[in-house]
Amino acid sequence: MTDRPAPTDDDVLGGLEPDQVRVRFPPSPTGNMHVGNIRSALFNWAFARHYGGKLVLRIEDTDTARNSPEALQYTLDSLRWLGLNWDEGPEIGGEYSPYLQSERMDIYADVVAKLLAAGKAYHCYCSQEELEQRREAARTAGQHSGYDGHCRTLTPEQVQAYIDEGRRPVVRLRMPDRPIVFDDLVRGEITFLPENLGDYVLVRANGYPLYPLVNPVDDALMEITHVLRGEDLLPSTPRQIALYEALAEIGIGSGKTPRFGHLPFVMGEGNKKLSKRDPGSGLGEYMERGFLPEGLLNYLALLGWSIADDRDVFTMDEMVKAFDIRKVNANAARFDPKKCEAINASHMRMLDPSEFAARVVPFLAQAGLLPAEPSEEQLAVLHAAVPLVQERMNTLSESPDMLGFLFIPDEAFSIDPDAAAKVLTGDAGAVLEATSKALSELGEWKTEAIEQALRASLIEGLGLKPKNAFGPVRVAISGRRISPPLFESLELLGRERSLRRLEQARAALPAD
Ligand code: GLU
Ligand code: ZN
Repeated sequence: MTDRPAPTDDDVLGGLEPDQVRVRFPPSPTGNMHVGNIRSALFNWAFARHYGGKLVLRIEDTDTARNSPEALQYTLDSLRWLGLNWDEGPEIGGEYSPYLQSERMDIYADVVAKLLAAGKAYHCYCSQEELEQRREAARTAGQHSGYDGHCRTLTPEQVQAYIDEGRRPVVRLRMPDRPIVFDDLVRGEITFLPENLGDYVLVRANGYPLYPLVNPVDDALMEITHVLRGEDLLPSTPRQIALYEALAEIGIGSGKTPRFGHLPFVMGEGNKKLSKRDPGSGLGEYMERGFLPEGLLNYLALLGWSIADDRDVFTMDEMVKAFDIRKVNANAARFDPKKCEAINASHMRMLDPSEFAARVVPFLAQAGLLPAEPSEEQLAVLHAAVPLVQERMNTLSESPDMLGFLFIPDEAFSIDPDAAAKVLTGDAGAVLEATSKALSELGEWKTEAIEQALRASLIEGLGLKPKNAFGPVRVAISGRRISPPLFESLELLGRERSLRRLEQARAALPAD
């Protein structure tokens, strides 16, 4: 017999088999996704994949004014672009469907009726003014100013009187009169005292079911085992736990309160919470700027988690293997746009060159430099150019600037005026003339031969420093001050086009 140490995941799983893990990502589809929400999606996804459990995508779209079918589609497309695939949810279905809360209104009405019948919830007829008056009075008396339980024990006569007055009630949950304690997977044990937890509203007077009702009801019905979500939702957790318990007592759902893990805040500039309005907070920006999904996700993983002390760059497979919710740091994480870009650049370098080329094509196509389906010849040039630029680009959207000179038709080619003003001055005329001469006489149009000829002609011949020698040539052939390596670029551009551009640049020089 061998002594087997307790599996390290035991306290996370709490007796479940790993593949019984069920987590959820419940976005409200209101358009652009916030990076903080993507981080939540990522951690849930990694948690589910790590244990071989299920990720449920549930759409919290009861607020019809703020949600639209387009926004829903955008949310689904965003998750697919990121590669955060779900096991149950829209477009896939599943045992617990529907997964759109807007299609579950009857379910909520039924649950509320059962909570009311069991006395777990009750109707509250207090008007806004009455509530405010009593809250104010409690405040002046130095007492807690949450809901005072006024309607907990109304007699049938009182109820009838309110109804006769034409009042329409909200529904409140009857909160237990004891502390609510739970063991947060990120933060450890957290206690909320009952005096801070007034009976809260589940359903508005107009019958509209609120987030604090529908979210835990669906978690219970969908048998969610772990809830990993942002720290901003922590204040609602004790109320939700009370609701799970009430549901369990009347036999609704799995009967087990999920384990919670509250992920740290994501802070932006000035150490303020990164808000939806801050630049750099929305996914759309990263897609447009040509981030790789794996680069962005790698960076977002670092907002609270790390794979090892000395390692920042990893693949999603590696994250899935290593992910441990207990290693998530409770301290707020700072969003660092520079680091985000650097991590992305690392993933750009990790791409297989042909994959890199494939990902660059849409960006070149969008800039009008290539057709969406490039020809064999264009692809050959692109593949040859990839090794020259792959190490130098941080995002895919840099590709038109880096590679455009190879694909732009001659009649559309122009030199960036700023580059011309800075570089095509002084000796530039002599440099371009000597370059044209050396290159037109060159036998073999190959990088090494081009380099040799230019060094002989410009450095040895004209006695120039490399910067002054090659700067004007670079601007002439690429139109820019920054380009892929010069001699390779010349080879790729070909003799004829290179010579034509050198002439064009000479013609554009200011007359002296
Ligand atoms: N729909 C909520 C949100 O997007 C869900 C929060 C939760 O994870 O419970 O903020
Ligand atoms: Zn009341």
